[in-house]
Amino acid sequence: MNAETPDPAVPAPPLSKKDRMKIPRQPMPEQDPARRRTNFEEVNQGLTVMGAATEALRCLSCANPKCTSGCPVGVKVKDFVDLIVAGDFLGAAAKIREDNILPAITGRVCPQETQCEGCCILGNKFEPLGVGYLERFVADYERRTGRVGLPERPLATGKKVAIVGSGPAGLSAAGDLVRQGHAVTVFEALHAIGGVLLYGIPEFRLPKEIVRHEVDAMRMMGVEFQTNVVIGKTVTIDELMADEGYDAVFVATGAGLPKFLDVPGEHLNGVYSANEFLTRVNLMRADAFPESDEPVFDCRGRDVAVVGGGNTAMDAVRTACRLGARTSYLIYRRSEAEMPARAEELKHAKQEGIALMTLTNPVAFLGDADGFVSGVRCVRMELGEPDASGRRSPKEIPGSEFETPIQMAVIALGTSANPLVQSTTPELATTRKGYIAADPETLRTSKRGVFAGGDIVTGGATVILAMGAGRKAAASIHEYLSTGAWDAPA
Ligand SMILES: Cc1cc2nc3c(=O)[nH]c(=O)nc-3n(C[C@H](O)[C@H](O)[C@H](O)COP(=O)(O)OP(=O)(O)OC[C@H]3O[C@@H](n4cnc5c(N)ncnc54)[C@H](O)[C@@H]3O)c2cc1C
Repeated sequence: MNAETPDPAVPAPPLSKKDRMKIPRQPMPEQDPARRRTNFEEVNQGLTVMGAATEALRCLSCANPKCTSGCPVGVKVKDFVDLIVAGDFLGAAAKIREDNILPAITGRVCPQETQCEGCCILGNKFEPLGVGYLERFVADYERRTGRVGLPERPLATGKKVAIVGSGPAGLSAAGDLVRQGHAVTVFEALHAIGGVLLYGIPEFRLPKEIVRHEVDAMRMMGVEFQTNVVIGKTVTIDELMADEGYDAVFVATGAGLPKFLDVPGEHLNGVYSANEFLTRVNLMRADAFPESDEPVFDCRGRDVAVVGGGNTAMDAVRTACRLGARTSYLIYRRSEAEMPARAEELKHAKQEGIALMTLTNPVAFLGDADGFVSGVRCVRMELGEPDASGRRSPKEIPGSEFETPIQMAVIALGTSANPLVQSTTPELATTRKGYIAADPETLRTSKRGVFAGGDIVTGGATVILAMGAGRKAAASIHEYLSTGAWDAPA
């Protein structure tokens, strides 16, 4: 060993804060845009061990870390990043799991720029720590080793809990409740488990293999899953409680009812809701038709317009592109700065050659003699004063109408509450917009023993907020089952 070679037995001196700040943010290796726009493989390839170890060194280990308060479930970022620095990747994954049971998923889909990373102090002068990239790295590392630690089975409490809906809210509640010894059954209307994680978010952002892996881990923990059960039709909540002996119910049915523009021509052939379009491709694998049984509009060589500016719109437009569309327009009535989609999705969509039409709003779809959509009539918009959401409200520019030929359109304007459970559970109070009314702290509804959380309470939000609601509900349900005390929300 010469003088320059460090002796591995001697620990390296810790890097000074100044030196840490000199390290640039490690880029995420990505599939090349020209190649990836033709396939459904994951765009982000994940940090290498070296990339992750280097990125972790950028953390300044703040005495009072702001990143944790920026995380809706309070992941102890500094602690898990310290474990990466120490080379203990499995320990880092276990640390995250204390607060977040789906790190491989949230590391991929959270809008980190407005949460943990948005609060990182490095971001004041440099790029923030890549918290999402690191979270994803340790979760993927753990999965690849096959050493996901399952908690010990606790003693059975003899209490039964029904969970309605298998999205992130239902899954996180199920994980917590089964660890407390309750018998948990998740009822899902579709034939597969995962909610939006499965049928909404495409494979190129969130490989379904990861969702299946997490669901399998929960099965091994003792969670029972029943698919093809539509609560409110197959069986009601009252029947679950009165006839099937469930002591508590958590309603986590999401907000899966699509909104439409309500303009002439919206019912023409070739106009889809984003829910239908994405479900056909993600859940039913219409991209592989005719090997799969499910067809979808043949986009090859056609012009497709997607209307909206959120994650759903971004997923739909990038899916159309991968199905071979000649032009994939994204029509959004505000400007790029107001788009609610994750920053990374917009960046990726642009790299993939999406044709952005901002400050533009469709006023009609035009059809051909056979009833198929052949064009979209739009009007240009300008931004006025901020509205209730804090975003500048768009206003039509008179006389600015124009027409663009298209052969398919996808409406991605957001979703609202499916009314089925509410309408078949008489004691369940709802809000003016039809969401379930639940106490924000305890998630108790107006019906004794019934709790609700996730998008069915908040309206369309994020995966991590739904998971946070699931955890809150689980704690509250556990308390109710242990004490029997019930104070209905005011
Ligand atoms: C296309 C798309 C992309 C998105 N991208 C992101 C993203 O990148 N990052 C992010 O943080 N968030 C994203 N979101 C939002 C996020 O997915 C949701 O906020 C989250 O999934 C809500 O979780 P949930 O558990 O409340 O409901 P859901 O995930 O909607 O799950 C509800 C489940 O309940 C089932 N169900 C409904 N009614 C019944 C019934 N009567 N009986 C039985 N089962 C029923 C449904 O089939 C579904 O499986 C996206 C949403 C969409 C649609």
